[in-house]
Amino acid sequence: MADILKGKPVADQLQAELVAKVAELRGRGLEPHLAVLLVGSDPASEVYMNRKKKTGEKLGFIVSTHVLPGDSSTTAVLAKLEQLNTDPSVHGILVEQPLPDQIDKELIVNTVAPAKDVDGANPVNLGRLVGGDESFVPATAQAVIEMLERNNVPLKGRRAVVVGRSTIVGKPAALLLLNRHATVTVCHSRTADLAAVTREAEILVAAVGRAELITAEMVSPGAVVIDVGTNVVDDKLVGDVAFEGVAAKAAAITPVPGGVGPLTNMLVLRNTAAACERLAAR
Ligand code: NAP
Repeated sequence: MADILKGKPVADQLQAELVAKVAELRGRGLEPHLAVLLVGSDPASEVYMNRKKKTGEKLGFIVSTHVLPGDSSTTAVLAKLEQLNTDPSVHGILVEQPLPDQIDKELIVNTVAPAKDVDGANPVNLGRLVGGDESFVPATAQAVIEMLERNNVPLKGRRAVVVGRSTIVGKPAALLLLNRHATVTVCHSRTADLAAVTREAEILVAAVGRAELITAEMVSPGAVVIDVGTNVVDDKLVGDVAFEGVAAKAAAITPVPGGVGPLTNMLVLRNTAAACERLAAR
C-alpha cells in the first residue's frame, strides 16, 4: 500500500513559515495585502474568495475583496484592475476564475501587473518560468512541487509524466519539474497510448479534470502519484486518479480531497508576501 501524501502537514509547514515571514515584514512596517477580485456570484468562487480572506487574515495579511456584478463589461473589470494595479497599498492581485462569458479573460489576465500577479498567470511571469525564474508561479503547479520536495521525493534525473497541458497547471508543473532536472513528458487529449507513457513515470502528475482517468494498469509499481484533479461525481469530490487501485501499486499518492488542494491558498499568500517585499525594495 502506498504512502498517503496528505496536504495538511505540508500546509502546516507553509503556514508556520508564512507567519514568521509576515512578522518580519510587519516588523519592517510592511503590511502584505492581497486583493481578490470576483466578477459575479459563482458559489464556488465565493467560497474560494472567502477562504482566502479567512486564511490570509489569520496569518496577518490584509485581504480585501472586490466584487463586481456578473454582467460587468470587460472595460469595467479592466478599470477595477487598473485601480488595484496602481494602489501602492496592494501587493498581490488574484482574479477568481471562471470569469463570466462576456469577459475577455486573456486581456484580464494580461492586465494584472506582473509585479502583483500572485497567481502567476500573466504571460510575463510564465515566460520568466520558462527561463528558470520562478518569481511568480501558478499556485497549483507550485503545490505539486511542494508536495514532492517536502516529502523528500527525489526529482533530479527521474522520469516525470504530467497528464494535462493547461497554462495554469500542466505546463507550469512540467516546467517546474524540468527546472529541477527531471526528464519530463507532457501528455494531453491527443496523446497516443496514454497508458504506455504513464507507465514510464517514476513521478506521475494528473492534471486533467476527468474523474479517475488514471487507473492501476496505467501506473508502474513504485511510482509517486500526484493527483491535481478535482471532479464532482454524485456530489462527491474525486480526483483524476482511481485512488484505491493505484494506491495498491504506487509508492506514494496524494488523496482527493486533502492532497494538493490545501496548499494552493498558502502559496498564493506566500507569493503575496514575496510581492510585498519586492515592491518595497523598488
Ligand atoms: P483544463 O484547462 O481543462 O486542462 C485539462 C488538460 O487535460 C488539457 O491539457 C487536456 O488536453 C487534458 N486532457 C483532457 N482529457 C484528457 C484525456 N482523456 N487524456 C489525456 N489528457 C486529457 O484543466 P486545468 O485547469 O489544468 O485543471 C486540471 C484539473 O485540476 C481539474 O480537475 C481542475 O479542477 C483541477 N484543479 C485543481 C486545483 C486545486 O487547487 N486542487 C486548482 C486548479 C485546477 P488538451 O490540451 O489536448 O485539451
